[in-house]
Amino acid sequence: MFSNWHDAIKRLLISFFALLLTGWLIGEPALVVLAGTLGYLVYHLRQLRRLYNWLRDTDFSEPSPPPESKGIWGYIFDGIYLLQRRERQALLELKSIIDKAQESTAALELAVVMINNRGGLEWWNPAAEQLIGLQTPKDKNQLVINLIREPAFIDYFNKAKFNRPLKLSSPSNPTNMLEFQITTFGEGERLMLVRDISQLHRLEMMRKDFVGNVSHELRTPITVITGYLETMLDDKQNLPARWIKPIEQMAQQSHRMENIIRDLLTLSQLETRASSKQQSAIQLCSLLREVKQDAEQVFADKAHIITLDCADDIYVNGNLSELYSAISNLVLNAAKYTQAHGSIVLRVEKGTRGLLIAVSDNGPGIAPHHIPRLTERFYRVDESRSADTGGTGLGLAIVKHVLARHNGKLEISSQPGKGSQFTCLLPVERIVEPSGLAPITPTPGTQG
Ligand code: ADP
Repeated sequence: MFSNWHDAIKRLLISFFALLLTGWLIGEPALVVLAGTLGYLVYHLRQLRRLYNWLRDTDFSEPSPPPESKGIWGYIFDGIYLLQRRERQALLELKSIIDKAQESTAALELAVVMINNRGGLEWWNPAAEQLIGLQTPKDKNQLVINLIREPAFIDYFNKAKFNRPLKLSSPSNPTNMLEFQITTFGEGERLMLVRDISQLHRLEMMRKDFVGNVSHELRTPITVITGYLETMLDDKQNLPARWIKPIEQMAQQSHRMENIIRDLLTLSQLETRASSKQQSAIQLCSLLREVKQDAEQVFADKAHIITLDCADDIYVNGNLSELYSAISNLVLNAAKYTQAHGSIVLRVEKGTRGLLIAVSDNGPGIAPHHIPRLTERFYRVDESRSADTGGTGLGLAIVKHVLARHNGKLEISSQPGKGSQFTCLLPVERIVEPSGLAPITPTPGTQG
């Protein structure tokens, strides 16, 4: 570069002095220098025009060689040509990477959709056409929420909490079940992966139906057996002495079986029925008072001190029988596992995280390693303790399901030897302002 530039300057200076000398010799130095400068200008203008024409006619994806030129202009032409070729090479490499990525996603059964930061569709693979009915190229730049109009999807997309996938029936074929998973990248762009989980969903439904049907079918025989055993025990004095103990044990076990079947049926209904259809404004305090009375009656012999800390004007929107069942499970558990004369506190509180319903006791507590597993079906901390108390191991699973159906969750904290606290957290949207409401308060027999 420098030698080219120095040569050009050198040549310019030599030409200038040659012109000056010629001009001086013929007695017109100014005229000769002016003519020389004009010639120099014309030369550079011509080169500029060649450069302009070449750049104008060049196809950047297939650059043509530059016009032949010498000196500094030759260097400029060659430099630009080299840059064009390098850029083209880089473009070809990038294109081949994109082609490979597109080819590999085209072969996938998984739908891959790229969404820009305005929510418009940018690119998708063929599986997306099949699974969610996208049309190429018609749907390009269309808003994804205009194409998948299911309210659950719109809510999921707008809330942008993508830590969990969304299950939804396919917009193009409602018999198929799809799982949507979205991840964000770049500046607000999103990558949406959709897979067909119809087979898995069908198996899951079969499992749920099976548990529901088996529980339903077992209910009548067990009720009959329990009934006969109780009738026999009512007439204890006429029973042979050696039969009394076995029959008592049979009655106890068939009661347990009845409880297990009842809880299994409740769980199966919670899993299979559409999310809480019968919603109403529930006055929480009345519900808790009701549950408190139940616990006091059922565990009268343990004479617990149960206190209720709740403002009367707290209403929550939900399914009464489901919430009753969840809260009564927690309160009955507290009463079941807390020693006689122990204390149990039921507290309702509005907080920044939503509505809080806490059931605390000063019972035996639970070791920390059990806590994450407590809501699993049939998980018990202590088999013998639960069997003694007639527990089914399904109570907390029911609580978890009910709360999930109310967009809430269960939090458990406990210290062995000191007591436990089970807290139901319901979102702020569930809180109903008492003004202008005709609340439904729980009446006996509404619990399920
Ligand atoms: P169960 O029918 O056995 O009570 P749950 O699902 O209701 O089943 O509870 C699971 C386990 O959690 C129980 O077996 C018990 O060991 C423990 N648990 C539940 N509530 C309490 C409590 N208030 N205090 C101590 N342990 C509890």
